[in-house]
Amino acid sequence: MDDCIFCKIIRGEIPSEKHYEDDLMIVIDDISPKAEKHYLAIPKKHYKLFSQMTEKDADDLGHCLRKIGEIAPSLGLNNGFRCIVNQGDDAEQTVFHLHMHLLGGQKLSTPDYRI
Ligand code: 5GP
Ligand code: ZN
Repeated sequence: MDDCIFCKIIRGEIPSEKHYEDDLMIVIDDISPKAEKHYLAIPKKHYKLFSQMTEKDADDLGHCLRKIGEIAPSLGLNNGFRCIVNQGDDAEQTVFHLHMHLLGGQKLSTPDYRI
């Protein structure tokens, strides 16, 4: 999508601190971190909601989740992390390209870390 921030990051038109990339996803630092470690895992395909996913999107998202588990130690998330996906208005989703917040690097015991 032409005016989507995350599509622009994926295309390299907006800079980001990238930690991982493959054919299906990127993992970058969130520009406004809410915890010691706050990453965004972003599938390369643009869609907003789980309800818009095709079967292929579901396969690709499965890959993303498995890969997140694999690279978590290299991201400093070896003691656990929280994975959050905001969906729509009530969740106050602000970027309409599906993404997973990965929070960690500390105990996430207070409500401040809900995103
Ligand atoms: P949402 O509210 O949609 O779940 O999360 C969007 C996230 O994208 C927010 O945590 C926000 O800080 C992050 N974000 C917005 N613009 C940029 C950007 O240009 N670069 C990066 N790295 N993160 C961004
Ligand atoms: Zn997009």
